[in-house]
Amino acid sequence: MPHGKPAGIPCIQLTPDYRCALFGRPERPAVCLSLRPHASMCGSDRLEALAWIESLEQHTRPAAKEPAPAAAG
Ligand code: SF4
Repeated sequence: MPHGKPAGIPCIQLTPDYRCALFGRPERPAVCLSLRPHASMCGSDRLEALAWIESLEQHTRPAAKEPAPAAAG
């Protein structure tokens, strides 16, 4: 995804059967290559894995931008 994958949005490379369409290909993003899966992130089923991802996304969400101060005058 050219500007990164927004939280809560499935990657466009995810196939209907939840596989990576880029797996094993040089176009696969470096961040995906560097991820080392661990049992704690997979859980015992898909729902537990999705809950882990959602938690990670919430904890790494960029801070909301403050509105610009109104101009004095
Ligand atoms: S491994 Fe990376 S490119 Fe592949 S589906 Fe997951 S997020 Fe997308």
